[in-house]
Amino acid sequence: MKKPTIVAIDDEIDFIDMLEDYFKLRGYEINVASKAAQGIELINNKKPDIVILDLKMPGINGEEFLGLLKSKQPKTKVVFVSAFDDAGKTKARILNAGAYAYMDKPLNSLKELEKVINKAFKG
Ligand SMILES: [Mg+2]
Repeated sequence: MKKPTIVAIDDEIDFIDMLEDYFKLRGYEINVASKAAQGIELINNKKPDIVILDLKMPGINGEEFLGLLKSKQPKTKVVFVSAFDDAGKTKARILNAGAYAYMDKPLNSLKELEKVINKAFKG
């Protein structure tokens, strides 16, 4: 079974390191960035199937990033992983803007994220 290619962008370096280890070990192609500008470059170069995106980052935030990404590569599925919570308001807005999923950080398990990613890739 073909696996989706992934780009993960989050200013929390421990988190993207963990994602990189987990997905590489399982045979996925994953590239990570801790800065939005670097993330945009990766997306332009790699044209990933899936983007794992943080919401709160210095510079461009995840919501603006989503708009940019959707205008350039509408087929790319975006999965947000964020600890930010304002009673679901931002979550609803982001899903409305075309994100595939919004998962709460900390994740219960990376396996759960992997399942969502594969579902997004198939759908
Ligand atoms: Mg952040």
